[in-house]
Amino acid sequence: MDFTLSDEQKMLVNAVRQFIKEELKPLEDEVESTGLLAPEKARAIFEHSRELGLYAMNMPEEYGGAGLSAIDTMLVEEQFGHTSDILIRRAFGNIYEALLVCEGAQKERWLLPTVRGDRTCSIAITEPGAGSDAMGITTRAVKDGDGWLLTGNKHFISDGEYSDFFLVTAVTDPESTPKAISLFLVDKDSPGFTLGRNQVMMGLTGTSCNELFFKNIRLTRENLLGEEGRGMRICLQTLGRVRLAQVGARAVGKATHVLDLMVEYVKERKQFGKPIGDFQLIQQMIADSVIEVNAARLLLHRAAWEIDQGRDARDWISMVKVHAAETLGRVTDRAVQVFGGMGYCKELPIERYYRDSRIYRIFDGSSEIHRTLVARGATKFGAALYDVRA
Ligand SMILES: Cc1cc2nc3c(=O)[nH]c(=O)nc-3n(C[C@H](O)[C@H](O)[C@H](O)COP(=O)(O)OP(=O)(O)OC[C@H]3O[C@@H](n4cnc5c(N)ncnc54)[C@H](O)[C@@H]3O)c2cc1C
Repeated sequence: MDFTLSDEQKMLVNAVRQFIKEELKPLEDEVESTGLLAPEKARAIFEHSRELGLYAMNMPEEYGGAGLSAIDTMLVEEQFGHTSDILIRRAFGNIYEALLVCEGAQKERWLLPTVRGDRTCSIAITEPGAGSDAMGITTRAVKDGDGWLLTGNKHFISDGEYSDFFLVTAVTDPESTPKAISLFLVDKDSPGFTLGRNQVMMGLTGTSCNELFFKNIRLTRENLLGEEGRGMRICLQTLGRVRLAQVGARAVGKATHVLDLMVEYVKERKQFGKPIGDFQLIQQMIADSVIEVNAARLLLHRAAWEIDQGRDARDWISMVKVHAAETLGRVTDRAVQVFGGMGYCKELPIERYYRDSRIYRIFDGSSEIHRTLVARGATKFGAALYDVRA
């Protein structure tokens, strides 16, 4: 086992780190206070990142991405955790790997423009009546001649306002067992589409989370991604690596960032005539955070390694999802405590990190759902025998 980073990996991480420090960090406070990232600033960070070859890095080289391995992706995504979600989305893209299922003319229409940054996309699975139970959706694509008519509504769709098209799950055969769900590429300018409210959240300032309404939207075979009835399978196969990156790795990055701020603060802040870092109760919060963050990072790298070996990493991904998200929650909670009143005060970003971190335990499958999956895997394969799963 060799945990040393190669020179290429170090260069990649340093390039991303420097970009975030110099170009994104200075915009954080403005986004937080105005509630948005000004379009001209979004354009500027996107153009510069694309010039440097940092846009759409998770996409294969043949389509214009950087073709990173899963491990390299996690190294980069950990750095993404050091700043706000909206700045990362605009600067580096948020490209769903499900788009790689595009074939023929679909590539020109949806995949390639997205990798170039000319179009943006959201994934629309969740509905008011179907969250954790993604199979419980009621959005329907009813066969109509050669194509379908799409009707239904989604909610909580990240970046819904900004996106040009959506990857939408819809029931194509309610009678089959389990019911058949397909995945469609739906352009925002399709007749019958309405963008609903922005559902304001407690954190993630600057991003939008929208309701989407579809009414008799005419879809052709070109709108169907992959085979009819295989939509959930495509989601399961392609969302795992995205989940590991955008939740697991970013949670590790965010927790590391907050921990670094805590460590600096306890050296400087004095009470009772000495730095608060001299008090053992404070040291315990630092020590527990260091241990948990490093354990989360190891688990993350192991999961990424499993993916790079071409193995089924679903259980590893669920373990990371739970552990990294909950570590982040504990670390940001301790940070508020260590910073005292300043941790609760909007003059410092600690309260923002605390709010932003809370969603990590909920989206992309809640802790309860992923724990259920881990338990199911352990029951089937044994708790310590995950590496025998081919
Ligand atoms: C900021 C934000 C961004 C999002 N972005 C997107 C997006 O881009 N695209 C998209 O499709 N969705 C998105 N979502 C939706 C997100 O994935 C769902 O909120 C999440 O899957 C949980 O579903 P729910 O909110 O309906 O909660 P519910 O499913 O109603 O769950 C409520 C509670 O019950 C628990 N629970 C449910 N089932 C079980 C069970 N079987 N065992 C034990 N406990 C259970 C849950 O863990 C949770 O604690 C986003 C949500 C938010 C808040």
